[in-house]
Amino acid sequence: MDYQKILENVLIKMTGFQELGNPASYIPELRKVDPFKFGVHLITKKNKNFGLGDSEEKFSIQSISKVLSLVMAYQLQDEDLWKRVGVEPSGTPFNSLIQLEYDQGIPRNPFINAGALVICDILVEHLKNPKDEFLNFVRKLSGNSELEYCARISESEKSVGYRNAALINLMKDLGNIHNDIDTVLDFYFNLCSIEMTCRELARTFLFLASYGLNPITKEKILSSSKAKRVNAIMQLCGFYDEAGEFSFKVGLPGKSGVGGGIVAILPNQYSIVVWSPGLNKKGNSSKGMKFLELFTSETESSIF
Ligand code: GLN
Repeated sequence: MDYQKILENVLIKMTGFQELGNPASYIPELRKVDPFKFGVHLITKKNKNFGLGDSEEKFSIQSISKVLSLVMAYQLQDEDLWKRVGVEPSGTPFNSLIQLEYDQGIPRNPFINAGALVICDILVEHLKNPKDEFLNFVRKLSGNSELEYCARISESEKSVGYRNAALINLMKDLGNIHNDIDTVLDFYFNLCSIEMTCRELARTFLFLASYGLNPITKEKILSSSKAKRVNAIMQLCGFYDEAGEFSFKVGLPGKSGVGGGIVAILPNQYSIVVWSPGLNKKGNSSKGMKFLELFTSETESSIF
């Protein structure tokens, strides 16, 4: 398939699409990002690369990092993981407190903030230097050994992180956080702060399009059964209370972040990342979702 041509055609079709949305405003540093930025990168299982627009510019991956922390925790804990976090769609916003008390502090899934905080707690429990080890893991997957946490963004989020503090305090009270809450929160804000280009991020996720095997380095990251399960959670929970809409319109497992990035994979074929900082009301990239909808329609590629 001539993906370069297809990406360009889809971009032309986007010209009539006016719903730009707004960059996340609750994190002061994210408010400053130019809403007109737009980048796409697609990498195939055979390491063929196609990109357009601002695909080589770094952006804040935010919640997309929740997939990577889940993968690391799944490597360490196997199926015991699911005693502390569920695999059901939440149907609520990413930072909602509402279900957590009803569910006795067991978050619905690892991609809402509460679930990601539990995953961070598990990593803090298992790893000597969680921040360093997580960063090394992401560096290896991305092929960029110089990736860093962005202190400017993590500090900015920390300065207004009241909701995440509320979530973790409630879970601590209900017995589902085992470590010091400030240590876990600090780790969480840091992993959300990583900045990557569309190209780096697409490569990072390629192993999930390849049954858990990184096809470039040949390293087995997850068993195929575990990779299937991570993809299933992305399909059902990757877009919070818009997961149904994304499945309906795009038909691929994926994950969004409030930095405006979306990653999606087609098993055995490709990983694709779109970045456009304007978010819709559910906190997902407005143009990013539209682009992927048109792209999977044009290529007739979907898991369904
Ligand atoms: N760091 C953000 C937060 O905790 C991540 C949210 C997101 O990307 N959906 O609110």
